[in-house]
Amino acid sequence: MSEEILVLIEHRGGKARAISWEAIGFGQKLAGLLNREMAVVLLGHEVDALAAEMTQRCGQAVLVASSPQLESYTPEAYCAVLSQLVCQRSPWLLLLGHTYQAIDFAPRLAAMLGRGLIPNCVDFRWDGTQLTFVRQVFNGKLNLEVGFKGSPPHLVSLQQGAFSAYDVQSASNPKLVHVDAALTPEVLKRKVLGILKTAQGQVDLTQADIIVAGGRGLANKEKFQIILDLAQVLGAGVGASRPVTDGGWLPKEHQIGSSGQTVAPKLYIACGISGAIQHLVGMSNSGCIVAINKDPNAPIFSIADYGIVGDVFKVVPVLIEAAKEIRK
Ligand SMILES: Cc1cc2nc3c(=O)[nH]c(=O)nc-3n(C[C@H](O)[C@H](O)[C@H](O)COP(=O)(O)OP(=O)(O)OC[C@H]3O[C@@H](n4cnc5c(N)ncnc54)[C@H](O)[C@@H]3O)c2cc1C
Repeated sequence: MSEEILVLIEHRGGKARAISWEAIGFGQKLAGLLNREMAVVLLGHEVDALAAEMTQRCGQAVLVASSPQLESYTPEAYCAVLSQLVCQRSPWLLLLGHTYQAIDFAPRLAAMLGRGLIPNCVDFRWDGTQLTFVRQVFNGKLNLEVGFKGSPPHLVSLQQGAFSAYDVQSASNPKLVHVDAALTPEVLKRKVLGILKTAQGQVDLTQADIIVAGGRGLANKEKFQIILDLAQVLGAGVGASRPVTDGGWLPKEHQIGSSGQTVAPKLYIACGISGAIQHLVGMSNSGCIVAINKDPNAPIFSIADYGIVGDVFKVVPVLIEAAKEIRK
């Protein structure tokens, strides 16, 4: 029985998505704790440059399944190739990012393999003998600890932003291994004609390097404009706490937190946000957190790397001017 941990890479336009680096970092941590081998799995067509980058950056073995039929994601092709790979290598664990893509194919893959899937995990526990994964239910009100029954391979998907991409180490096993990607024509039941963006210019917050987020401290929709202005000058995504989206100041997809998105940008600037636990679970893994709040006792300061005690309407315009100066 293999002891191996496999981490599936999700990529688009020749770049691995942030969640894949988070999954690699977590996989390496688990492999170290449990003394297991780890490899990265890349499915696609003409992905040599990305495979080379992956081996360089994480120093792990990269298993490449390359075929024109894998150029665009389809659940049938992914399930066919991954089930072949799993049957050949009998890994102990297959780690995925909990993305729309994984939500689409992972349950089908688990059913094909006759194995369990623990989806959307935010943490794990290892007591020396037993491994359990933590997932949130009821909009983040409760945490469940879930373990596997039966024999491996086990499938686990990780919530975006729950683990840090900065945990990726450079391991010492960088090699490229080409694996079988044979697909019979009848496997492919659909062809992707193109990928349409839902809205022009909209920032995918899970991919943003910088997020400027505003909360109820911004007072109303009109005054919230300074958050958009700061985000624009920094080339950042715009995030919000729940009162902002509930109040209709911004669409729901900007909400960060247990009932919104989970993000882990390099820089998160929280303006007029108190730091309720439901907000913190969505952003506490950010690389650097800057909090601006007029209340020195606001809980957001307990996780902030830099805190500014002050009025957002005085501090943010100064930041906008400073950013404009730097950009000149
Ligand atoms: C099931 C459930 C799910 C939830 N999911 C989410 C979620 O996904 N995301 C989320 O964010 N919340 C969520 N919440 C709500 C959460 O509990 C908090 O109510 C919410 O995060 C508070 O938002 P806030 O920090 O913007 O507002 P407040 O808690 O009201 O904080 C506003 C802050 O602004 C500061 N402030 C006011 N004026 C100024 C000023 N002029 N300058 C500087 N600072 C100022 C205040 O000092 C205060 O700290 C959820 C709640 C429940 C029950």
